[in-house]
Amino acid sequence: MTFDEFKQLKDDISIIKLRHCPFCGGHAEILIGLGEYWAHCVICTASTKMENSYYHASEAWNRRYKP
Ligand SMILES: [Zn+2]
Repeated sequence: MTFDEFKQLKDDISIIKLRHCPFCGGHAEILIGLGEYWAHCVICTASTKMENSYYHASEAWNRRYKP
């Protein structure tokens, strides 16, 4: 990861707030592996599919949220 990418990632993290899990209300977080990003719930491990950026993973997670 280059410095610019790291800086971009930090910017992304600071502007996107993950909603709580739609299934259990737990805390969600973004995982990064092998250049892929996905969101998951730390309580029930519900997760999104792999996305190619932190932003898209966050979007995917927040889109599935149903109050
Ligand atoms: Zn959950």
